[in-house]
Amino acid sequence: MFDEDIEELAGLVQRARRAVVFTGAGISTESGIPDFRSPGGFWTRYKPIGFGEFLASEDTRLEAWRRFLVIRQTIGDAKPSAGHIAVSRLYDMGHVSHVITQNIDGLHAEAGVPAERIIEIHGNGTFAKCLSCGLRHEIAWVSDTIERTARPPACTSCGGIVKSATISFGQAMPEQEMADARAATLNADLFISIGSSLQVFPAAGFPVLAKQNRTPLVIINREETGLDGLADLVMNAEIGPVMSALLARIESA
Ligand code: NAD
Repeated sequence: MFDEDIEELAGLVQRARRAVVFTGAGISTESGIPDFRSPGGFWTRYKPIGFGEFLASEDTRLEAWRRFLVIRQTIGDAKPSAGHIAVSRLYDMGHVSHVITQNIDGLHAEAGVPAERIIEIHGNGTFAKCLSCGLRHEIAWVSDTIERTARPPACTSCGGIVKSATISFGQAMPEQEMADARAATLNADLFISIGSSLQVFPAAGFPVLAKQNRTPLVIINREETGLDGLADLVMNAEIGPVMSALLARIESA
């Protein structure tokens, strides 16, 4: 079954010139970054802090930053997984046009996909931004400020609230990235979802949009997703072995 599915997937990818790869936290678990919903995932330990709560109280902002810095430590030590590397190779071979990612860990770029081909719809956790003037602040500066003052950081330029450059629950989605992701999806000749539970909307709307546009849809995820019924090919398997076998199959063709 595995071999037959790899054969089918390889055929789809080899024919594709504008495939969109859509990734979730599952592609980074093999890099040592826990996902949200699996046992041991962040959500089993911390209830997420929504954007409204973050804005409403300085104490909540301090708690949100403390949690973020723990996550950041894990992300900072992580290296791209076999999945990230395979996606980057498929881009190099001319099969993939864009990577749309829900991840904030920067590992697609580290694996070699050019930044202008990566659409980060939930932002980027490798830096912070002032919510008022947009000035960039480094995470190391945030960490030092919290250690020195035991208070959440304020913008060095305008005094505004500084937040990681990620999208929290309740925060508006980034307009440019959403428009770019929509355009890439509508232009795609294949849409592959890798390592996403496809439960978080509007992100999970992209595979639906691809299908509505009659684009073949592949879902690769350890557990079933709510959108499996829409897909042309579903592989409930580990990402590393699937993507490594796919790459080997295409490279030997
Ligand atoms: P999710 O946690 O809801 O789903 C991840 C899915 O990946 C799960 O269904 C799980 O079964 C599957 N999975 C995990 N490891 C796998 C593996 N090795 N092989 C195959 N499948 C595997 O994550 P999501 O769908 O991305 O959505 C939740 C939100 O979490 C997103 O907004 C994302 O921004 C955020 N998040 C990001 C990171 C990161 O940047 N690395 C980490 C945790 C959460």
